[in-house]
Amino acid sequence: MAYTSPIPYVSERIHAASVYCSDGRVGEHFDDFLQNGLHLPRYDRVALPGGPGCLAGHTEARLEEEGVIGELKFLVDAHGLERVVLIQHEGCAFYARRLGVEPQRMAALQRADLVRAAFQIRRVSSDVEILAYFAMNVRGGVQFEPVPIE
Ligand SMILES: [Zn+2]
Repeated sequence: MAYTSPIPYVSERIHAASVYCSDGRVGEHFDDFLQNGLHLPRYDRVALPGGPGCLAGHTEARLEEEGVIGELKFLVDAHGLERVVLIQHEGCAFYARRLGVEPQRMAALQRADLVRAAFQIRRVSSDVEILAYFAMNVRGGVQFEPVPIE
């Protein structure tokens, strides 16, 4: 049976994308932050395990890195991408399982990887504005803290 979403379709693009982890436990929080916190409705989603961690030069994620770089190049050309929002989240399984990072080292590495990911994106397009955030589980929800990447 067909399902019709009641949300109206708007064809205008916002020229922004976010690179974040595909973890479904924080998917709605990411949407809420991007749409209501940063006022970026209809932003393009680049979601995969580890998110920006796949742009930080880890050999374990070499194939994903190529894929995400290709996707961002496409979005710059086809969607006129002007802004990229990078989000890391607390307790990411990609860091624990794929990279084998100890829990106590994880957040620091995730923050450092935001800087590395921003550098990679600037190689795709030097005109794109890049914002970076770390999502923490706090009482009452998920808090998005800006991370300096300069
Ligand atoms: Zn994750």
